[in-house]
Amino acid sequence: MKLRLAILNIAIPCITLFILGYLPAHEFFLPDYVSMALIIFTLGRAFLLLQQQAVFSVLPMLLISLPDSVPLNLDFFAPFAFPCFLLYLTVVNLQWGQRPWTHPLHIINLILLTLFVCLSLRLVPIPKELLPFAYFSLDWVSVVLATLPLVLVRFWGRIGRWASYWPLLVVVAFNFKWADDNYLILWVSLAALFTLTLDSYVMAFVDELTGILGRRALEFKLKTLGKHYYLAMVDVDHFKKFNDTHGHQVGDDVLKMIAKLISHTPRAYAYRYGGEEFCLVFAKSAQKEVVDALDNTRRRIDEYALYPKSLIRNKTKRGEKQKKKPLHVTASFGVAQQGESEGFESVIARADKALYKAKQSGRNCVSVAK
Ligand code: GH3
Ligand code: MG
Ligand code: MG
Repeated sequence: MKLRLAILNIAIPCITLFILGYLPAHEFFLPDYVSMALIIFTLGRAFLLLQQQAVFSVLPMLLISLPDSVPLNLDFFAPFAFPCFLLYLTVVNLQWGQRPWTHPLHIINLILLTLFVCLSLRLVPIPKELLPFAYFSLDWVSVVLATLPLVLVRFWGRIGRWASYWPLLVVVAFNFKWADDNYLILWVSLAALFTLTLDSYVMAFVDELTGILGRRALEFKLKTLGKHYYLAMVDVDHFKKFNDTHGHQVGDDVLKMIAKLISHTPRAYAYRYGGEEFCLVFAKSAQKEVVDALDNTRRRIDEYALYPKSLIRNKTKRGEKQKKKPLHVTASFGVAQQGESEGFESVIARADKALYKAKQSGRNCVSVAK
């Protein structure tokens, strides 16, 4: 899911940038205040999500987009400002994954940003001998910088980090004169906003550990679902004991495995309800289909031979010989059908009761609520 969103995140802004390069800019002219409003909105959103990388990469955009009538009018192409900006963005991107605002890289960011502003305003006197270096061709450097994060996409789980990546592409676009600068700023703010919106969606709805949808998404789904749906509660058997025997890391591997297996249940939406409990929702199915599908999933969990990554990794680190002995777990299922004008809380409670019955009858089975 995260990977799919990340790819979407690359595709949409790249296509937009490509199209922008070919569209006549004057036809899409938007006044400065529209760009400004958009940037401020993006900054606010990034702040709310604690995405300092996005905040820092969009900030220079704000400075650049200030209309000419504002006294703090910055000349973006002032000597050194451009390489400085590039360096600044590189540091912003290096900072991915390091949140604290007191981090040394964050301090470097602040210094670079100040330098960027000073250079643009020509507050820093530049010796004549250094001027030739200011106009170094940075075309290919910026291309490399902009494409590097694409290669490393798998390492950046959190989508919002992409928001700080888009300004790099804009630097490339500036360099190759693909489009008007106002136009690019507008585009990058939109791309960053899009990225941050996706990120807030992921944070709110996707479960961090298993990558499937979480409880908030389940409640949302149940509220918007039609009548007579089936809801199944899934609970791992003797999981406390399993955790105590094999450790929590291995327990986490089990939860990931269960999430993967249950999300392959035909015609069902899978959610992590919380802890080691999962939910499956069937929108329109007959009872026999539902029970068969659940029993099939139950059997697949039962038969699954798990070789936990964390266990193998730890053993290899300690130099122990890897014993290839798989672990097994089972799960119990309780399912209930929504009755006429029954609220979802009541359906969940009845499914939970059925689950309790499944536990009582020896676990590793499916129980249907009356
Ligand atoms: P039963 O068969 O009756 O369900 O027994 P149980 O031990 O599975 O039941 P119980 O609900 O008491 O245990 C739940 C355990 O799940 C407790 C906790 O250690 C474990 N657990 C909950 N969330 C997580 C998690 O995110 N990771 C891991 N590794 N363990 C979790
Ligand atoms: Mg439980
Ligand atoms: Mg349990």
